[in-house]
Amino acid sequence: MISCPVCRSDAVLLGATEPDGEVDEDGSLLPGLTFVGAAFECDACGLQLNDYDELVIAGVDPVIDRSSELDRWYAQMYEDWAYEEWRERESRACQNNAPEAA
Ligand SMILES: [Zn+2]
Repeated sequence: MISCPVCRSDAVLLGATEPDGEVDEDGSLLPGLTFVGAAFECDACGLQLNDYDELVIAGVDPVIDRSSELDRWYAQMYEDWAYEEWRERESRACQNNAPEAA
């Protein structure tokens, strides 16, 4: 949640969260997580922004550092992946058990 630059209400920033990393002086990787906004919607005043440049012009900072949420984000990704795996296995099992066509 971010606040609308026009009316200060809570508004929605849509975008993608992606892992990234920085290499510090001694060459070790510092894992990071960055959210990059691509669209903005405010229900309260109807403000809509549809790309990164518009966000910047309107005074919405589209890049949010979410590095502190990295562990949670990875856990979520893993859960999604595990769930997909499980679903795939289940659907394959169903196909195998299906009665053969006469
Ligand atoms: Zn607004």
